[in-house]
Amino acid sequence: MTKVWIGTNWKMTKTISEGLAYTRELKKLAESITPNIELFIIPSFTSLLPIREELSGSRIKLGAQNMHWEDRGAYTGEISPRMLDEIGIDLIELGHSERRQYYNENDVDINKKVHAALKYGMRPLVCIGESIDQKNNGISKEVLAAQLKVCLKNVTTEQAQHVLIAYEPVWAIGERGIPAEADYVGEIHSFLRKNLVDLYGEKVGQEIPLLYGGSVRLDNFLNYIQQTNVNGLFVGRTAWNMETFSVLLNEL
Ligand code: PEP
Repeated sequence: MTKVWIGTNWKMTKTISEGLAYTRELKKLAESITPNIELFIIPSFTSLLPIREELSGSRIKLGAQNMHWEDRGAYTGEISPRMLDEIGIDLIELGHSERRQYYNENDVDINKKVHAALKYGMRPLVCIGESIDQKNNGISKEVLAAQLKVCLKNVTTEQAQHVLIAYEPVWAIGERGIPAEADYVGEIHSFLRKNLVDLYGEKVGQEIPLLYGGSVRLDNFLNYIQQTNVNGLFVGRTAWNMETFSVLLNEL
């Protein structure tokens, strides 16, 4: 059965108690949804440990929203891979457009973080996406190919089997986001797939999960997931409350 990755980044929205209440509901739901769905949640750092405990024995994977690439050091306010590994984190979201926009993260930083995650056996979920200006100037594919190449620099074919990619066009994300046309998403995902095959060969290149994210809603998620080479959805607002997320999960 082909795997479908469905997950959500809570950004800076839920407290520990809110996150635990959500997790308890999702755990119940996870028991009834189709088994080919790989479910993951990405809470804030403060909630990771209690949620790890709450998820004990559950199929839901746990991710972190960011991390530093160094194991330890004088980096006030940062969290290291060693610290996340101690909690038992499954995947690390890297390079979300808000990290790039507000904290000046670039592809070279993300590449260091990818290597750090892999060293600790945590799966990097690398976010890439073009801006509206880049799209309007017709350079989306060039931008995405470069992001992919730099973020994955020196990642071996063996390591690449643990990587996940999320395509999140910057103009489609968040309150002011404009949902992308499903055909456009399909075209970009096929392009990204070709790039991954060029980088890692047919077998591994075809197997790296390619998720789509950006204003995924109840009225459009099926159109996205039906596109060839869309292997999952990275969902923001629609997944933050169980009323809408449960509808999405039950209809997959
Ligand atoms: C996101 O910010 O990564 C995202 C997908 O958000 P939303 O679904 O709310 O647009």
